[in-house]
Amino acid sequence: MNQPPASPSVSVDDFTTDFISRLHNSRGVDLESASDNDLYSALAWTVRKHLIDRWLVTKRVQRENKAKTVAYLSAEYLLGAQLHNMLLASGLGTVARESMASLGLSFDWLAELEVEPGLGNGGLGRLAACFVDSLATLDIPATGYGIRYQHGIFRQTFVDGRQVEQPDNWLELGSPWEFPHPEASIVVHFGGHVEHTTDAEGNDLAAWKPAWNVLAVPYNYLVPGYGTQNVNSLRLWSARATQSFDLQIFNSGDYENAVRAQTYAENISQVLYPEDSTPQGKELRLQQQYFFVAASVQEMIGQVGTSLDELRTLPQRVVFQLNDTHPVIAIPEMMRLLVDVYGMEWDEAWGITRSVFNYTCHTLLPEALEVWSVDLLGRLLPRHLEIIYRINDDFVAEVRESHPGNELLVRRMSIIQEQPFRAVRMAHLATVGSTKVNGVAALHSELLKDKVLVDFSNLWPEKFTNVTNGVTPRRFVKIANPGLSSLIDEAIGTDWVKDLSQLSRLEPFADDAAFREQFRAVKAANKTRLVETLRKRDGIELADDAIFDVMVKRLHEYKRQMLKVLHVVTLYDKILRGELDPESMTPRVVIFGAKAAPGYLMAKEIIALINAVGATINADPRVKGALYVAFPANYNVTLAETLIPAADLSEQISLAGKEASGTGNMKFALNGALTIGTLDGANVEIRELVGDDNFFLFGLTEPEVATLQAKGYVPSAYYEANASLKNAIDLIASGAFSGGNRQTFEGIVSDLLWHDRFLVLADYQAYIEAQNVVESAYADQDAWAKSAILNVARSGFFSSDRSIRDYLDRIWHTPAVPVQ
Ligand SMILES: *Cc1c(COP(=O)(O)O)cnc(C)c1O
Repeated sequence: MNQPPASPSVSVDDFTTDFISRLHNSRGVDLESASDNDLYSALAWTVRKHLIDRWLVTKRVQRENKAKTVAYLSAEYLLGAQLHNMLLASGLGTVARESMASLGLSFDWLAELEVEPGLGNGGLGRLAACFVDSLATLDIPATGYGIRYQHGIFRQTFVDGRQVEQPDNWLELGSPWEFPHPEASIVVHFGGHVEHTTDAEGNDLAAWKPAWNVLAVPYNYLVPGYGTQNVNSLRLWSARATQSFDLQIFNSGDYENAVRAQTYAENISQVLYPEDSTPQGKELRLQQQYFFVAASVQEMIGQVGTSLDELRTLPQRVVFQLNDTHPVIAIPEMMRLLVDVYGMEWDEAWGITRSVFNYTCHTLLPEALEVWSVDLLGRLLPRHLEIIYRINDDFVAEVRESHPGNELLVRRMSIIQEQPFRAVRMAHLATVGSTKVNGVAALHSELLKDKVLVDFSNLWPEKFTNVTNGVTPRRFVKIANPGLSSLIDEAIGTDWVKDLSQLSRLEPFADDAAFREQFRAVKAANKTRLVETLRKRDGIELADDAIFDVMVKRLHEYKRQMLKVLHVVTLYDKILRGELDPESMTPRVVIFGAKAAPGYLMAKEIIALINAVGATINADPRVKGALYVAFPANYNVTLAETLIPAADLSEQISLAGKEASGTGNMKFALNGALTIGTLDGANVEIRELVGDDNFFLFGLTEPEVATLQAKGYVPSAYYEANASLKNAIDLIASGAFSGGNRQTFEGIVSDLLWHDRFLVLADYQAYIEAQNVVESAYADQDAWAKSAILNVARSGFFSSDRSIRDYLDRIWHTPAVPVQ
């Protein structure tokens, strides 16, 4: 069937010979003297070699065709480990495994040496990684542009149950997957001032006189498609000090300052901001944004050509997708290049700019909408600020023309906010400067149109569209869940990996008792695999005959890990009161995985509470193993790949109207977990597709949330009115999880009772009841398996291949260029 094209001539012996010669030639060692890192690097190089020919051919074909290219601009790529994906794409999995075995090496052990590039915080960065995978698989000419952070997302450890962040030095031993090209570096300028002169025809000419600059050095990564010869590129920029900058200072004899200047320049790509859903507002972050975007836009323009005639073809040659507002400074940068550098008329340049950019909005939290103060922007990018003002002047004039006298509307829509300080609203700039604006799930796109950007959608209704997120089935099913993959292969063949809609053909198997039996065996084996992983990785000892109830995602109050904790505490409280018999309960293992932004104190308190609740419950003999809480530290893509296939129950319990889409929810459904969730983000679409019998719905809807908040939400009233909620909160307040210390979690308790911005208490009772339904449903293992199979069979829509097809149809219109 449609197997990935193996490199047919590669035998185990060839592979082994290559591997040994790699050790010799690139590492200067032999098998006996090789270190772990030598062995891993040689293995990676030996695999990668078989994708490079395809990569070169792809680049040549795309160049010769002058193919229209998707330039995906994203400040984050949460890639996950590379080796397994490269083996899948090259078809060399078995060969590599046998080759290592023939040398007496354990392939699995070598693979585990890889440090995953964690160049993203969570969903947004992982989405970008799924999208480049799908673009390559669909033969779409595309380059992902981003930043090669020296330090990715921090490594989380727990000390006395509290999160402690360690730097992620993922490049410490080098990365065998990257191709640096310092000769192709691009100079990026900052600071200084703008000089205005007038030409012979009386036109204003602007010349930016920057004060300093850095080099953007490209590092290329292979992005192989699956089941195709196509190999696209991911280009991540690394900051280096420019020589001229150094030399000036060196010549002045100030060695110390020269070195300091170098550090300053190279700081730009030092560290990923560990924010989640709150903008940082830091100068260095704005430097990062402009740094990668300026290099990317300049490089793309270089490919098209810089004569006016060539520049006019930009809309036929490239489409830029802005992944959230982080790269939006690309819009004034494009204007600067076209007008100031290449001498195009403003109006023509604006037409081209607007036609090549599109913007994906990822949030609904007003506090997360990015703004940059004009002070900072003017200091760092003075010419860009001028350009933004001019764009805004023209835009505001357009609004005034269509809505005469409505100055309130003008103020709301302006790209510049005046209060509480003068700043550029990046989402407004993105919307004004783009052809299309999309939300990331059906509900989210509706809320974008009707709330967040309602004035803009009234002005330009045709600008707004939806593309529901997706996940790559290669990484999150084929690689992560080999047991399920084989089962699917046997049932419906292997085409599903490239065409996930094929999963619908599994539906009849939900009624096949033998298939259900096999499906349950796969889930059980995945649980055993997770138990072993957590034992080795974290020293956690779990039973594998429990319901695995999993909540993994960034820690944020809107995601409501707190509601899950209250459920756990309620179960515990009821056991202590004798209202629940641990002997007759379905044993439940509750697994959390979550990093909190280092400065997000409430999120860190919730982490401490989860760990404290876990420590108390896990040590209490009265619980008799009926309830267990596991919180492995440092949730990342690698852990997700083991955790998600082992889950029975997927926790997707955000406050309705706050989660844009979610993609974790999709990974779980595709791996046969049932969802308990609120009507939020893509949960809405998951439930519609899998059927409401196969989804545990609870909680307020988005309009109900709005109504409740409008009439004045009083959380303490819920506490007073609900005995089991009161008992749970009182148990936390009593110090039961903090060695009797009532102060430890006082902050959390009083926040819940007096603020509770995310309506945890309002949804508590509905959640507890939904969990009771889960408990009785799980008691019928055969019926549960049927629902789980239907979740898999009906989730084909959530492939990121489908998302990319939607982008192609609705936004990009970029033809595929198959590579022979
Ligand atoms: C998929 C994924 C996410 C996103 O999860 P959500 O539940 O959608 O927030 C975050 N982190 C990792 C490591 C992931 O793989």
